[in-house]
Amino acid sequence: MASTTKYIFVTGGVTSSLGKGIICASLGKLLEARGVKVTIQKLDPYINVDPGTMNPYEHGEVFVTDDGAETDLDLGHYERFLGVNTSQKNNVTTGRIYYDVIMKERSGAYLGKTVQVVPHITDEIKSRVLSLGSGDEFDVVIVEVGGTVGDIEGLPYIEAMRQLRFDVGRKNTLSIHLTLVPYLKAAGELKTKPTQHSVKTIYEIGLQPDILVCRAEVPIDKGIRRKIAQFCNVDIEDVIASIDAESIYEVPLLMLEEGLDKRVISKLELVCKDKPELKRWQQFVVAIKNPKRTIQIGLVGKYVEHRDAYISIVEALQHAGAENKCRVEIVWVQSDEITEENVAKKLSGLHAILVAPGFGHRGILGKLYSIEYARLNKIPFFGICLGMQCAVIEFARNVCGLKEANSTEFEPDSPHPVIDIMPDQKQSMETGGTMRLGLYDCEIKKGSKAEKAYKSLEIKERHRHRFELNNSYREQLASAGMHATGVNPGRNLAEIIEVEDHPWFVGVQFHPELKSKVIQPHPLFISFVEAALKIQTETVN
Ligand code: GLN
Repeated sequence: MASTTKYIFVTGGVTSSLGKGIICASLGKLLEARGVKVTIQKLDPYINVDPGTMNPYEHGEVFVTDDGAETDLDLGHYERFLGVNTSQKNNVTTGRIYYDVIMKERSGAYLGKTVQVVPHITDEIKSRVLSLGSGDEFDVVIVEVGGTVGDIEGLPYIEAMRQLRFDVGRKNTLSIHLTLVPYLKAAGELKTKPTQHSVKTIYEIGLQPDILVCRAEVPIDKGIRRKIAQFCNVDIEDVIASIDAESIYEVPLLMLEEGLDKRVISKLELVCKDKPELKRWQQFVVAIKNPKRTIQIGLVGKYVEHRDAYISIVEALQHAGAENKCRVEIVWVQSDEITEENVAKKLSGLHAILVAPGFGHRGILGKLYSIEYARLNKIPFFGICLGMQCAVIEFARNVCGLKEANSTEFEPDSPHPVIDIMPDQKQSMETGGTMRLGLYDCEIKKGSKAEKAYKSLEIKERHRHRFELNNSYREQLASAGMHATGVNPGRNLAEIIEVEDHPWFVGVQFHPELKSKVIQPHPLFISFVEAALKIQTETVN
């Protein structure tokens, strides 16, 4: 093998939701901080071709990459931590693997052979992993295997990892297993048995962990570490404790303290800087832990019970808060529950209101009332994707007097379709991956709030939608005070709208939250939080 790229396989045991994505992102951050070029790939064992067709309650947010892939939300963590962009290649699902294998079989690529899980499915998995390491772009590829060891659906992935250790050479690979060390209150102690069982299970399917990262609620003492090491065939230094942290952004620093990066560097013989450069990261953590002020921002959405549905928005608000030296407290507002009568009560006291993206009719009326409230009471308002579309509907109805204005998503025969389906989307309503996806250009109007925030007239942002502001209403909206201040140059599509005579009323057709990073918070979120702080100052004085 010509390539010198090294591979780290990260599996999880005992239970799901241990935060494997955060551990991968943290390790990636620590390696990157020492000058190692690193990327992270997520292997998802479900049969959907991508998460794009899944309900947010099922899967949380769908993260969209620059190249328009609809991916797992862990890719969002990878980007936010590492500060680099991922792509289609960084997320692979069982559905995608099978789809490609079956297409190849149909085209005769297997020359009449019986197509089987081993070797054909495992070969396809391996080729996906190796494709990230095939150029000079990365020194290390961290491969996160989704699910829990022992799941039937994860077996082909573990088998592929087992084979890869042989294919690329054992010294070029590392196996990290994340487990749980539960604290039993009644016994007053940490229990190692689940970890022992989990390691036994992964041994049975052929992969030996080199490092164990043990999630625990309380510190893991030397005795427990020794026991884990002894029963799980690793050195005591390779038992890494990952104690619950207040913020996910502290995890890289905790892993640094535990020496996870050092163990990885020594085992993979990586050539890199002696010390990680983490100054800005540390400053960020200090800022989020010691805010000077707190502001309350209402997040109006219909999936608020499932916080992961809006995870990139939540994180982008935290980044922007740290940049503004304040804590952003999110007040979750279920759009379903907002009525004309209770809107003022539900939203009073908030320093800003964000109306979230979404699909379908449920909760729309509540969103419209919230927007009207923010517009009339001059509360900073940020509408993202569907939130922007709702802002247009609200303005058309209540300011332009088009009482029946609507989106054709909710009312196909609306007499005033101010939001309408794009012509090229009409044929492809049924299938996955057919929306306007990924990065598109946007030209910003001089003197707009957007220009002030971005400090630029040309930007690129990520999209995921089918509907658009209907250009035949643009003039009417503008003459009443709602302007398209960002436009896609190629297709003349409104990307940003702003309402005049308002402290901060901005709607965006794209998803700025997907591009906010710890080291580079998103300019629109920074500006939105600034506007909220201003409102707070004015109300206090
Ligand atoms: N449902 C809207 C559309 O498809 C908005 C999508 C979104 O908010 N991501 O255009």
